[in-house]
Amino acid sequence: MIVVRTVADLRAALRERRGGSIGLVPTMGALHEGHLTLVRAARADNDTVVMSIFVNPAQFTEQADLAAYPRTEERDVALAEEAGVDVVFAPDGGEMYPDGFSTTVSVTGSVAETLEGAQRGRAHFDGVATVVTKLLLAALPDAAYFGAKDAQQVAVLRRLTADLNVPVELVVCPTSRDDDGLARSSRNARLSPDERARALAIPRALQAVTDAAASGIRDSRALRDRALDVLAQGMIALEYVAFVDPETFEPVPQVDRPTLVAIAARVGATRLIDNTVIDAGGS
Ligand code: AMP
Repeated sequence: MIVVRTVADLRAALRERRGGSIGLVPTMGALHEGHLTLVRAARADNDTVVMSIFVNPAQFTEQADLAAYPRTEERDVALAEEAGVDVVFAPDGGEMYPDGFSTTVSVTGSVAETLEGAQRGRAHFDGVATVVTKLLLAALPDAAYFGAKDAQQVAVLRRLTADLNVPVELVVCPTSRDDDGLARSSRNARLSPDERARALAIPRALQAVTDAAASGIRDSRALRDRALDVLAQGMIALEYVAFVDPETFEPVPQVDRPTLVAIAARVGATRLIDNTVIDAGGS
C-alpha cells in the first residue's frame, strides 16, 4: 500500500492501474468498522482500492466540531492497509483548497436543503458536493462507496452525479452498528459512558417505528409519536425525526412506499444522526 498526498501523485499511482477497475472510499479518517465495511465492499468489486482521508473543513459549519474532529492518521493508514486498501490519498488543506480556490458545487432542492441541510446550513452539503466532486475527478474511479448512515449525503451525491453525468457507480453499504445497536461513528468516541447509554434511545426509536409500521400503522405522525416516546427516555436534545422519500427528501405523510426515517439529536455536546428505511410491509 502506498500513501500519496497530492492529486498529481494519486494520478501517477493510478495510471498503471487503469487497465482494471478502481473503487474509491472517501473518508474523513478516524476509521472504525463502518469505514472498513466500505473498504471490504470496494475490495470485493475492484482491482484497485483507493481510500481518501481528508477532514474537509468546507463541510463543517461549526468550528468547534472541526477542531474536535478526531485525527488519527497513523492508525488509519495501518487499518487501511490491513483491510486491503492499495492507495491512501491523504492530502492537506492546501492541496485541496489552494489559494484562490473559488468554485462551489451546490445541489439545490429538498434533497440538500432540508434536515441536515437546514440544521447544519447550506454550506454543509456544498462542502460535501465540492470535495466529493474533486475526489471523483482526482481518482476517476469506476465506483465510489458510501455508507447508508449518511442517507442524505448519498441522496445529494446521487443527484450530483446524475445531473453532471459523472461516470461513476455509487455503491451504498448498510449502516454498521455496535452490538448495542448504536450506529458506528467517529464522533461516538466523544460520548461519556452515560451519554452513550442515553444515545441508545436513537436506534431504539428507529426500531420502535419499524415495529409500529410492521403492525400496520401507516400515518407518519402516529409513527413519529412512537419515536418521540422512546427518544424522551434518552433525555437528548432532538433536532428532528423525519419521514421522507429516500431520493428526494420530500416529506412522506403516509408510509405507503419505502420511506426513510431519519433522526438527528445532540447527546451532550455530540451530534448524532441515524436512519432506517421502512416500507409498506413494515420491514
Ligand atoms: P466519514 O469519515 O464520517 O465522512 O465517513 C466516510 C464514509 O463512511 C461515509 O460514506 C459514511 O457514510 C461511511 N460511514 C460512516 N459511518 C458508517 C457506519 N456506521 N456504517 C456504514 N458506513 C459508515
